[in-house]
Amino acid sequence: MTLPEHDPIETPPRAPSPVQGFGTLAVHAGSPHDPVTGAVIESISLSTTFAQSSVGKPIGLYEYSRSSNPNRDNFEKAVAALEHAKYALAFSSGSATTATVLQSLAAGSHIVSVSDVYGGTHRYFTKVALSHHVQVTFTPTLEIDIAELIRPETKLIWIETPSNPTLSLVDIRAVASVAHQHGVLVVVDNTFLSPYIQNPLDHGADIVVHSVTKYINGHSDVVMGAAAFNSPELFDRLSFLQNAIGAVPSSFDSWLAHRGLKTLHLRAREATKNATSVAHALESSPHVISVNYPGLSSHPHRAVALKQHRDGMGGGMLSFRIQGGHEAAERFCQETKIFTLAESLGGIESLVEVPGAMTHAGIPKEQREAAGVWDDLVRVSCGIEDEVDLKADVLQALEKAVVGPKIKNGIANGLGNGHA
Ligand SMILES: *Cc1c(COP(=O)(O)O)cnc(C)c1O
Repeated sequence: MTLPEHDPIETPPRAPSPVQGFGTLAVHAGSPHDPVTGAVIESISLSTTFAQSSVGKPIGLYEYSRSSNPNRDNFEKAVAALEHAKYALAFSSGSATTATVLQSLAAGSHIVSVSDVYGGTHRYFTKVALSHHVQVTFTPTLEIDIAELIRPETKLIWIETPSNPTLSLVDIRAVASVAHQHGVLVVVDNTFLSPYIQNPLDHGADIVVHSVTKYINGHSDVVMGAAAFNSPELFDRLSFLQNAIGAVPSSFDSWLAHRGLKTLHLRAREATKNATSVAHALESSPHVISVNYPGLSSHPHRAVALKQHRDGMGGGMLSFRIQGGHEAAERFCQETKIFTLAESLGGIESLVEVPGAMTHAGIPKEQREAAGVWDDLVRVSCGIEDEVDLKADVLQALEKAVVGPKIKNGIANGLGNGHA
């Protein structure tokens, strides 16, 4: 939905203006008081259809709920405000958002993408896009290769920064300036940081996409996606496809995601604080080979984080290689007591997983390892529990996963029972 400047419902006496801070916008953007009852929280509008006063003359703004409805509109306005965009569109999942953006391309189009994209994005690029005659070239070093990889039919550059699950960063401005010289649009998947920490459009991206399922909703109870951008042409094309393809979220999910978004700034700060503490603890542990966290000064792209992230924040996601191989990685994820072993991320609760065997299992091992997704890599999503509890949980799980088996084997060997 567009972010109108003079929407009569949107401008009660103390309506927020886009110059206000993130927290104020998160709470107020797209959140009109009910003009009839004064309710400060919008109702959930479940009606699929809207009455018309005469043929083709709807009473209000709406006709049919797939095309648009009050809850989705309000959510879209809020996302647009937080991503510094003129427009935002909501979809039924992050994957549906990706699919809709890709389906906006003509047959024969070409995309250049970073290598370590989200597993589902990789699956769509390699197994679905081809049937629409859209080809994707992956590169682990986009900033270096971009000019070489752009062809006459290249239409999009696809960036995930930080990437999943290795948390490497891409300098959006550097890529966008080359892409734009060739008339190529830049898409940034901003799921891992959320609009609180990074606003890709401010760094030259043309479209920012989100799995709303993660930080924006933030409570692990909605699957949804969104795209935000400034170009009216993109709005015409993508809103047409939003309606024509119909991969839209329900009113109820839009309402829930909008409620979640109102506390995004608080959750993102807390998750960053927790992840920073866990990353430091991991980095100083002898049981850890290496830590990927953009908030650490040891991160190879720390300079990009300082330039691109709010206050250089690292976000709530990190990954690390554990001593003892894949078995130790699996054991670690079973030994944590607060961190739940599960896929997904960005919720209030902390999660752990082994990407090579879970979220990224669909990517061939060689390609995975070339992108840094080793079998001993553990991915961590820090929630908003207490910092000391999360740190203690990680440290006790490391002891059990790495030291525990050595002691057990030692005893077993001592007893001459080596195969036990
Ligand atoms: C989860 C995720 C997606 C896909 O979103 P869904 O809502 O699960 O379809 C895309 N990109 C990233 C980075 C993700 O983490």
